[in-house]
Amino acid sequence: NATPETRKFEAEVAQVLHLVTHSLYSHKEIFLRELISNASDACDKLRFESIAQPDLLAGEGELQIQVSWDPQARTVTVRDNGIGMSRDEVVANIGTIASSGTRRFLEAMSTEQKTDARLIGQFGVGFYSAFVVADRVTVLSRRADLATGEGVKWESDGKGEYSLSQVDLPERGTAVILHLKADEDEFLKGWELRSLIRKYSDHVAFPIRMPKEQDGKPGEEFETVNDASALWAKPRNEISDEDYQSFYKSLGHDFNDPLAWTHNRVEGSQSFTTLLYVPEQPPFDLMMGGRDERKGLKLYIKRVFIMDAAEELLPNYLRFVRGVVDADDLPLNVSREILQHNRQLERIRAACVKRVLDLIEKLARDEPEKFATFYKSFGNTLKEGIAEDSANRERIAKLLRFASTKGEGAGQTVSLDDYIGRMTVGEDTIWYITADSYAAAVGSPQLEAFKAKGTEVLLMSDRIDEWMLGSLNEYAGKKLRNVAKGELPLDEAGKKQQEEANKAAEPLLKKLKDLLGDRAGDVRVSARLTDSPSCLALSDYEMAPHLARLLREAGH
Ligand code: ADP
Ligand code: MG
Repeated sequence: NATPETRKFEAEVAQVLHLVTHSLYSHKEIFLRELISNASDACDKLRFESIAQPDLLAGEGELQIQVSWDPQARTVTVRDNGIGMSRDEVVANIGTIASSGTRRFLEAMSTEQKTDARLIGQFGVGFYSAFVVADRVTVLSRRADLATGEGVKWESDGKGEYSLSQVDLPERGTAVILHLKADEDEFLKGWELRSLIRKYSDHVAFPIRMPKEQDGKPGEEFETVNDASALWAKPRNEISDEDYQSFYKSLGHDFNDPLAWTHNRVEGSQSFTTLLYVPEQPPFDLMMGGRDERKGLKLYIKRVFIMDAAEELLPNYLRFVRGVVDADDLPLNVSREILQHNRQLERIRAACVKRVLDLIEKLARDEPEKFATFYKSFGNTLKEGIAEDSANRERIAKLLRFASTKGEGAGQTVSLDDYIGRMTVGEDTIWYITADSYAAAVGSPQLEAFKAKGTEVLLMSDRIDEWMLGSLNEYAGKKLRNVAKGELPLDEAGKKQQEEANKAAEPLLKKLKDLLGDRAGDVRVSARLTDSPSCLALSDYEMAPHLARLLREAGH
């Protein structure tokens, strides 16, 4: 075989390596979970490709993952007989940073100067966690469709360079060999590795095998150490909360426990299973970048992993949901293009939305603290659903919470139903104000007349509110209206007062109109104010000042 070629990591990889090895130090054992999860992905991919090319599976037994250790050589090896990588794939996947998510991660980490371990799992920098415990990593890999002579050996100390050479590999798939750092002896013990696998990878759907121990040393014989079943396919009453939580973590992208989950089986002309989780914390890039790379919802067909299909299975405003959908009746060779126009999938998608909204409603009803956590993390994402999902608009609106002149300070705790419950007989308008901040909203002179009359006003100051309100004109038969827009409804006495005031002010109004010219559409006597001498108001069809400013900022 030719002499190895040495290459430099892309500058960003070196940076990521540095960040990962330093910030993951307190969670260093997760390297094992990350490598096992890659091995499991590789087995999933091979099983999927073998649907079209059955002979890819030939030669070796069952798809599996092996974890072994060698106390003399001080190595831990994670091996799989999955899809494997070609030379180009090795270079592309572990020598450069292919995903734009990782780039965003890097930018975030360097601007915020903060290295939060929780963030790392969300960006698919999993492989590099090997360097938290190893000072040298060797990868041996051969793609399932290449000849035995076309194996690749990749090796690096994680400092800036790696070497590549072509090797003979009789077995397909990938072996990752960790040469442990001097003080990482704990990972050279079989029981320690075994308990980590039970903790983090029990529900990986392929068998994870380890050598049986003989006199404290790894023996020749292997045994399966994980549960190796598809958790979602079991009946609910056979699954503990711990099972659900550990399965969630094995899906990747989050180190924390999930906030809540919902697990359902639909039987009938079309049968499918959904296991959907709501995380506790928003992923770092939920609001900015979450859109183009949505991961975390896996589509299986009869237990065979088909693809990450978050976009096909859930609308954008529920992009925080993680989990698994397993359909019985879709063709195994289904493609992304087919999925986008598939009637069966539409039904599954509607069922997913329903399940998630049911789950959130249940939190709101029965578990106020969890609901508050949910709302803090995902309330603003949910608001997008008001515009995006008109069929569920009323259900979503019911879940929204706002600050209010009758609420608890800046806390977003008042629902539209709370507001309606406090209305006096005959009132038919839900009043709100939008502003850049809670302070600006609550201090606005526009509220004076409402205060004087004792009318509640919702105080909205999230960036998305104005946009959302464009699609929320009505709730439960009540109109939603901006206090800054148009004429206020007045009772008879009020109307009379207004007319008189208008008459008395005529000379002043004329003068002001002349002075302001084109800069004001109109100058009127207002019933809005009780203390301040004047305020700006909008006609019914004008843009709110807050939205106008947002659009200007965005360059419109
Ligand atoms: P992620 O798994 O989120 O994509 P990783 O850093 O864990 O990120 O892995 C990077 C890529 O390297 C994977 O997407 C995959 O293409 C490749 N890879 C890693 N481990 C294996 C493996 N055991 N078999 C095949 N490909 C692998
Ligand atoms: Mg990974």
